[in-house]
Amino acid sequence: MSVPLMQQMATAGRRVLVRVDFNVPLTPEGAISDDSRIRASLPTISYLLAQGASVTLMSHLGRPEGKEDLRYSLKPCAERLSTLLGQPVFFGSHKNIRPGEVLLLENLRFYPEEEAGDKTFAKQLSHLGDVYINDAFGTAHRAHASTATIAQFFPHKKAAGLLLQKEIKFLGEALINPERPFYAIIGGSKVSSKLGILKALVKKADALFIGGAMAYTFLKAQGVAVGASLVEEALEQEALALMSSGKIFLPIDHITIEGDEVMGPFPDGSKGADIGPRTIWEWTKRLKEAKTIFWNGPLGIFEDPRFEIGTHKIALAITNGNAVTIVGGGDSVSAIEHQGLGSKITHLSTGGGAALEFLEKGTLPGIDALK
Ligand code: ADP
Ligand code: MG
Repeated sequence: MSVPLMQQMATAGRRVLVRVDFNVPLTPEGAISDDSRIRASLPTISYLLAQGASVTLMSHLGRPEGKEDLRYSLKPCAERLSTLLGQPVFFGSHKNIRPGEVLLLENLRFYPEEEAGDKTFAKQLSHLGDVYINDAFGTAHRAHASTATIAQFFPHKKAAGLLLQKEIKFLGEALINPERPFYAIIGGSKVSSKLGILKALVKKADALFIGGAMAYTFLKAQGVAVGASLVEEALEQEALALMSSGKIFLPIDHITIEGDEVMGPFPDGSKGADIGPRTIWEWTKRLKEAKTIFWNGPLGIFEDPRFEIGTHKIALAITNGNAVTIVGGGDSVSAIEHQGLGSKITHLSTGGGAALEFLEKGTLPGIDALK
């Protein structure tokens, strides 16, 4: 791995400043609805504490737009972290802590300088630690003060945390040297939001299975009548260019929003909501050949139980085989977790946008800053 590793840094007795990603989803009442991101940071925090470091954590939460807005306070995260670690977690502004103690700073995005990547702000933050660790994979695609700018103030004293290392290992290996056949499954709502990753994968993967709403842009581009299904007409040419690779598989049947099965042209006004049973059968058979599978984007409107079958069945298919399986994307990961299949996936990426950008570009600003 081309980044410095946390395990190679001397951290005993040192003040270690760690950028974590505690950007957790909240309920309308402000409670944490899913603490996966806090849990994902535990290996790094526990490791540093066991080394005898004092650990100052920093993160953002939501979009407070550069103003102090207590709806986005990280206080609930400090409390949850304290429960998970089984020790007190100090919270708020800077204070002196001793080896073995943990402090979580308040939401960095209360300051506009954070998202601006401000150098003075980053320098002030840098005074809070002797060593800088970045473990915030989910924010590593942003060049912000605490994720990128700050690293320049820690020459030879900066490194990747354990979570960041794990993400680089799985997503990096999938891209650089996958065991083949390497198949990718791409779904979700829009071609436009995934064009970069589609172009990267069409080069790297041996086959691409395209479902979800974005399949209809590809089908329409080929002249198939898709009724009222979501289509991005401006991207039909891009879709045809991708198709010319000969690697793309599209659904051969569909479930419409009315619950009907459709093969071939859609009736007028009818909208595709999930892949159909023949597609599931066909893709399941082909996916068995794969040695590596990357998946991003649900294959139907999975939030509605009537249209989660395609996503559900394909998730079962990939977890039954022996392939290395990597799933990235907020909705994709939540669909898999909802099915209770999370533990059967080789690597569930904690970063949605970051995972896609990393696969596309092979690096991220937060990773580059550590080099
Ligand atoms: P991820 O968060 O995993 O990257 P996306 O955000 O790209 O995934 O896509 C998820 C969304 O795509 C879901 O809200 C889902 O309802 C939607 N979607 C999937 N298939 C369809 C479809 N056929 N029609 C409309 N929306 C769809
Ligand atoms: Mg999403």
